[in-house]
Parts: sequence; structure tokens; C-alpha cells
Amino acid sequence: MVGALCGCWFRLGGARPLIPFGPTVVQTSMSRSQVALLGLGLLLIFLLYVGLPGPPEQNSWLWGDPNVTVLAGLTPGNSPIFYREVLPQGSSGGTRVEVVLLHGKAFNSHTWEQLGTLQLLSQRGYRAVALDLPGAAVAFFEERARQLGLGCQKVEVAPGYVVTVLTWPGTNPALPSILLNSHTDVVPVFKEHWSHDPFEAFKDSEGYIYARGAQDMKCVSIQYLEAVRRLKVEGHRFPRTIHMTFVPDEEVGGHQGMELFVQRPEFQALRAGFALDEGIANPTDAFTVFYSERSPWWVRVTSTGRPGHGSLFIEDTAAEKLHKVVSSILAFREKEWQRLQSNPHLKEGAVTSVNLTKLEGGVAYNVVPATMSASFDFRVAPDVDFKAFEEQLQSWCQAAGEGVTLEFAQKWMHPQVTPTDDSNPWWAAFSRVCKDMNLSLEPEIMPAATDSRFIRAVGVPALGFSPLNRTPVLLHDHDERLHEAVFLRGVDIYTRLLPALASVPALPSDS
Ligand SMILES: [Zn+2]
Repeated sequence: MVGALCGCWFRLGGARPLIPFGPTVVQTSMSRSQVALLGLGLLLIFLLYVGLPGPPEQNSWLWGDPNVTVLAGLTPGNSPIFYREVLPQGSSGGTRVEVVLLHGKAFNSHTWEQLGTLQLLSQRGYRAVALDLPGAAVAFFEERARQLGLGCQKVEVAPGYVVTVLTWPGTNPALPSILLNSHTDVVPVFKEHWSHDPFEAFKDSEGYIYARGAQDMKCVSIQYLEAVRRLKVEGHRFPRTIHMTFVPDEEVGGHQGMELFVQRPEFQALRAGFALDEGIANPTDAFTVFYSERSPWWVRVTSTGRPGHGSLFIEDTAAEKLHKVVSSILAFREKEWQRLQSNPHLKEGAVTSVNLTKLEGGVAYNVVPATMSASFDFRVAPDVDFKAFEEQLQSWCQAAGEGVTLEFAQKWMHPQVTPTDDSNPWWAAFSRVCKDMNLSLEPEIMPAATDSRFIRAVGVPALGFSPLNRTPVLLHDHDERLHEAVFLRGVDIYTRLLPALASVPALPSDS
């Protein structure tokens, strides 16, 4: 459907450039046939063309009506698409057409809001949706590469999933490089719980910037770019090449992004010697730095037993056996929780956590089901003996009785630890800069999983570091925000870190 009516142009203002209005899709809410749809589409575009005269010069929000609510969100599914939507105002009933607005490369869905097009369509009784098709982030980084004079490579690791690599070559290409990784995707928002539009990057009077991704981790992407820009402007060159990788799907596991990328020849060709990736905000004066991660194990336990009538004392039911497994696992959870509570030196990432996240089974109140299942989210600490731990899980199932099995939906088996002492020259360079800048570091094991695990698993030491101190942890939360002073200080920090890391002398492992 998209592309059926392409190449339409929509004049927006006398001397202003033309903004591409197509490809455009117009559809009825009571779809009858392709032909009728096409006809309606053509009619609507004609109506829009004659009905929406260009605004006066310089006025880009002539129709912006504060009474029209513009909703924003992500479509569900594996490849979410960001959209802004208005609903028809004062609908007079009857069949109304719906309008989908796309845009050219230099614009985004917000442009349609700023111009007032969305609001006007709403006022005239149309439901309208402005879409940001995937690729806008890639285009953004391509443009930055052009501006900064950096190499730019796009690697489509899976259909529609592009890793963008920006490269600043070092003076000694024989040396392994520095990899600065960040992800371009974000988690969804519940806009009604936000104080400001989560996609506006609104800065309040105190200097807090509200935006989805303000902490996780669009701030870091921009800090990398800005630090590189400053260093280039000042005329610096460093022995080691610096690569910035921008990956598309960290928030949904990285399986169509970094996990595939590290297996490709394009990744090998980067010859990464050390990587920085995301960390987390720290509410105190200190900065958190992650040197390892817990391994996600998603386990589904399925219990089978005798079915029958709900009024009888049936023996050997699925529920009784599942109950035993759940009890064993929750007892283990309590033990780990107590271990964490009783030792002030232990951080959350150092113990194994587990949560019961799903219970399934049964069809009716009076039918004893033959099958029930429970799903668990384990995060296994890196010092655990993985083989012994899996045997423990199996033995809990066996102890519950016949017909209890487990399967893994996710089972990460490559825990790696990047040393945080001076035996690791990368840590030595990193921590020396932090010391010189009076930054106190809190090295920890990341409790959740990030793309760093894929980088470490192919033998590249990596630190998870987002330079956000004195900042409440609001990633994935409502009102995710970052103070501009913290953001700008982060640029200063990378401006010091990059020269030190990219100047680490040749190491024995480099040859
Ligand atoms: Zn993140």
C-alpha cells in the first residue's frame, strides 16, 4: 500500500522549499476495494492541495491549536514505528477518511505537528497519523559523519536492522581501535504520566531535559559525537582509531543488532581493542561503572499431571508439582536476597536474582488441568558455576515428581569480567583520567543485560559507563530526564577519556 501514491508534493509557504508529502496512504475506515481506496486517496490529496494554502513566511505553526491533543507512541511488535496521532474533532458522523503523513529525510513526524497540519486535519474531522519510518536515526548519524569528516559505514545485520559505524582514523592503523557503542532504540512511553512531551526534549526552567532516552542513552551517543567534534576542531590526532557504533535494538535484547554484528566480518575489520558502552545514572556524587553483567536465563517450567473434575481429590496434579518447583525457586530467591541484605559490600549484580513472571494453565473453575507452567526470569551472577546451577534447576524439577520439565527461552552462557585493576591497561587509562578529574568511581556488575555482553563474549574488554552522577535513576521510567549541567559535564569527561584511551601504547595482545 505505501508507495501507491508517491511523488506528491505539498507547497508549504511561498519561498520555503517544498516538503515532500508522499508516499501517502489514504484509506477508508470501511475499506471496500483497492480502487475505491485509491480514488479516495487522490480526492483527499486534491482537497488538501486546494484546501491548505501555504502559511505566511516564517510562520511554521500557524494552525497549531492548543485544543487539539497530539498523541504519540510506538506501534507494538518487533519493529516498532514511532507515530503522532490526532483524532477527529467534532465528528459529524458518516464515513471519514484517515490520513497517514510521511515525510522527507530532513524532517520528522514532529514537523507535521509544528506546522499545524495534524491539528488542522483534526479540526476538519479527520483522523491523521504522522509516521517516522525506520531509518531516521541512521540518516541523522550519516549527516553527523559528513559534518565532522568521519567515515560512515552502514551494516544491515538483519532485514531492516542497521548498525551505523562512524570512524575517526588513528595515526597508527596497526593498533586495535577504541569502540564507543550506543543504542538508538528506546522503550515505550505512557505519555499521560509525563510532565512534558517525551519526544520534545523539553528543558524546564531548572535545566532538566525531559525526554525518553535522556538517560538511556541518547545522551551518551551525543556526548561521544560532541567530544569527537571538540577534539577534531582543536586539531588532535591519536594513535588508535575511534569507532562509534550505533545499534538498533538493545532494548529488546540486541538479537537483531549487536549479537549479529559481532559475528560479522565488518566487526572483525574494526579490530576493536577496548569498548565503552552504556552504564546507569548514579544519584550520588559518584559514577557507576560496570565491568561485567549477570546472565539472563529465562526458564519455563512445565508440569503435567492427572486431570479431572474440580470437586474431587485428584492425586498427582500438575498444580501440586508446579507448586513444589515454585517453592524451591522462591526459597532460593529468599536466600540470595538475604545474602545481599546482610553484606553491605555486595551490590545487586553480585548475587543471582529470580522472579516468577508468568503462570499459565487451566480452562475452567471445575476442570483440573493436565498441564500448568511457570516462567522465571533468572539473572545469574558471573561467579556462579553455570553447569552446577543448571543441574540444581533440573533437580528441583525432578524432586517435584514425574512429568515436570524445564526449557530455556534465553540462556546466556558467556559471562565475562573486564578486570578493574592496573593489570588491565584500559582500566588503568580510564581510571587515571577519572582520578585526574576528581571523579569517584563505583565499579559494579550490571544487574541487567546490555549489548556489552556480546562485545565481551568475543574477547573485547568493555566498560559500561554513562557519565551521569547526581541524577536519579529514571531510565525506562516516566519523566526520564537529565540536567543540562550533567549532560555537558559528560562531554568534558569524554573529551578527556578519548585521548587517553586512544593513546594507550601498543600492548602485547595487540600484535
Ligand atoms: Zn540502554
